[in-house]
Amino acid sequence: MSAAPSQPLPHERARPLPPGSTYPAKDLCSQCGLCDSRWVAYVRSSCAFLEQRFESMEHQAHGRTRNLDDEDELYFGVQQRMLSARLAAPIEGAQWSGIVSRLGVRALESDLVDAVLCVQQSPDDRFTPLPVLARTPAEVLAARVNKPTLSPNLRVLEQLPGSGIRRLLAIGVGCQVQALRAVQATLPLDELYVLGLPCVDNVSRQGLQTFLNSASRSPDTVVHYEFMQDFRIHFRHADGSEETVPFFGLDTPALKDVFAPSCLSCFDYTNAGADLVVGYMGAEFGHQWITVRNPRGQRLLDLVEAELDTAPVTSRGDRRAAVQQGIGAYDKAVKLPLWLAEVIGFFVQRFGPRGLEYGRFSIDSHFTRNALWLQRHHPELVERHIPAFARRIVDRYTLPTP
Ligand code: FAD
Ligand code: SF4
Ligand code: SF4
Repeated sequence: MSAAPSQPLPHERARPLPPGSTYPAKDLCSQCGLCDSRWVAYVRSSCAFLEQRFESMEHQAHGRTRNLDDEDELYFGVQQRMLSARLAAPIEGAQWSGIVSRLGVRALESDLVDAVLCVQQSPDDRFTPLPVLARTPAEVLAARVNKPTLSPNLRVLEQLPGSGIRRLLAIGVGCQVQALRAVQATLPLDELYVLGLPCVDNVSRQGLQTFLNSASRSPDTVVHYEFMQDFRIHFRHADGSEETVPFFGLDTPALKDVFAPSCLSCFDYTNAGADLVVGYMGAEFGHQWITVRNPRGQRLLDLVEAELDTAPVTSRGDRRAAVQQGIGAYDKAVKLPLWLAEVIGFFVQRFGPRGLEYGRFSIDSHFTRNALWLQRHHPELVERHIPAFARRIVDRYTLPTP
């Protein structure tokens, strides 16, 4: 008796949306790339902006959900370990010391994976992302440094069938990881490792230009920038010079609408679904901040741990009054004169939150802002869009009336 022909999976029947079509999440779409692949067939149950599935995702990826009564898990997600670190021999041109790129290189060299999903830059513009499935260390290194714009990482899933890639390391931000985890079981892979970046306030390429024009003295020569733990934005220019600008001196009225709507409605700052997360905001200035969520994350970290200068995470100060004051100032779109911004920056840098407390400051500030944005722009989504952990954080503050 012959076996009945198996039914094609939905993605085997589907094709990407034609260019110009409206993406199902409409204005909230973060252009994660899923809908540019045949896995668009799963969009209704996978898109981070159509349905929030933090609990099932954490369960699937880590075997349990975060403990909401544990302050570290409430803020930073499921974890078995957090540490602060930097590469003893930093990678030239990386965003920070290059832990992420070195890890991608070692994953290939040690034959843990066949390819690394990462983001190179377009040949015409360093800030336009070009997602790739890197097969060599050189291709991974070519993806170093942030492209601080929305990146359609998951569109390269389309290249997986027939590629020979069975083991993949995917590097990505929260919204990309949420969709990836949701379709993971349908991918033609034997192994998937997920290396996450924390992410907030992302922008379109056009939005980035508005931000650079407003914040930097020389927007066309910026090659790298970061909002750092000293409450300043550090711009690096093509000639190697550095410019720093206090957060509190930003032209808030001009920049209020610059962030993408997806990012103004996002609560996955610390990348809940990744095995390992490498950022900076929970570490002291100059260090990176690593969260190991599960044994697969530790296996990734094992690839580079001997190459790191590590230290325990620390926490100092009290963020709460500063967060509450910031909610009102942001809402009124206050622009401070530069001298006052420098004075405030001076005091906050010396006496303000440090280490994990700086991480909580940033999370509180963004979650309250985003909750208010949702209440004003998508009140119908508030109930199902704000996850329980974010709601608990937002409820600690008084928000302006929507
Ligand atoms: P590198 O070795 O330089 O590697 C950078 C990696 O980033 C590359 O592998 C590349 O594939 C990937 N990448 C670049 N651009 C994108 C993109 N647009 N989408 C997805 N992947 C990309 N950390 C915090 O602690 N707080 C934050 O608020 C924060 N915001 C971020 C916002 C964005 C848009 C991005 C991309 C990252 C953000 N990070 C944040 C992470 C942080 O800036 C560093 O990327 C991280 O610490 C790794 O540094 P590195 O030197 O090890 O990276
Ligand atoms: Fe599709 Fe991703 Fe946009 Fe959602 S965010 S609509 S999954 S491209
Ligand atoms: Fe995606 Fe959130 Fe980052 Fe925006 S802020 S790119 S929605 S993870």
